[in-house]
Amino acid sequence: MSAVQQPVSSSKLPAFFFGHGSPMNALEDNDYTRAWQAIGKALPRPRAVLVISAHWYVGATAVTAMAQPRTIHDFYGFPQELFDVEYPAPGLPELAGEISELVKPTWVGADVDQWGIDHGTWSVLTHLFPDADVPVVQLSINALKPLEYHVELAQKLSTLRDKGILILASGNVVHNLKLVDWKAQNSGTDWTQRFDEAAIRQMAENPSDILKLLEHPDYNLAVPTPDHFIPLLYTAGLASVEEGKAKAIIEGYSLGSLSMTCFGVGTDDFSCVKGMNCATLPRDVPSDKTNT
Ligand code: ZN
Repeated sequence: MSAVQQPVSSSKLPAFFFGHGSPMNALEDNDYTRAWQAIGKALPRPRAVLVISAHWYVGATAVTAMAQPRTIHDFYGFPQELFDVEYPAPGLPELAGEISELVKPTWVGADVDQWGIDHGTWSVLTHLFPDADVPVVQLSINALKPLEYHVELAQKLSTLRDKGILILASGNVVHNLKLVDWKAQNSGTDWTQRFDEAAIRQMAENPSDILKLLEHPDYNLAVPTPDHFIPLLYTAGLASVEEGKAKAIIEGYSLGSLSMTCFGVGTDDFSCVKGMNCATLPRDVPSDKTNT
């Protein structure tokens, strides 16, 4: 717990989508991690962070409701020092009840003993809030629901932004671990760039129609599985309620088939940073078996 704390926000908080990439970003110092730190410093202190992470992709809609969520090391093939990372932020059990009231009749379960804080969350929060003193609550991605469900659920959560809750989504717009190109440390393939640029345009112009991206000719290459894409739908849903737009505030590529784009909602005064040198992946494990 840091000695000096910023005042708790009483006005509408921005919302964000983070491209998290390799979990080694938690330990490394690069353009992305520095940009994430700068975002944390620019924010008023939230009452809590509500995170929709690609890595809690299960058959139910649930929120963590434990007082002290555990740090989950849900990846394979990385160095021991990454398994040693702890992010000891408290939870905020009462937020589970507030959320289940807010989204009715959609049902949201309170998870008191299963999940915690996964690496999609802590690899970013170690930079955003390095003191781990802001309570963290995760909302699962219900894998059984159609994609429209996630946009609509995010719209119902929007008023939490007026109540001191910072809503973060963590995934990657383009995330194809079977097609990583080790020679392309800071670049994207042509289809990676085309799809990422289409997502940036859609978020800027009409996030309520984010599912138009499913018709994009590169969708199946960019989004071979929906887990890292669905968090973007939450940020789009939030943006559609009031601002009507979301702005790319970090842009960049990693290993050819990952985009590291970060979007902000209510962040007109943020400039866009070009990212380089994202942390990489283990070479001795197939990339699609790392659970990155
Ligand atoms: Zn991931």
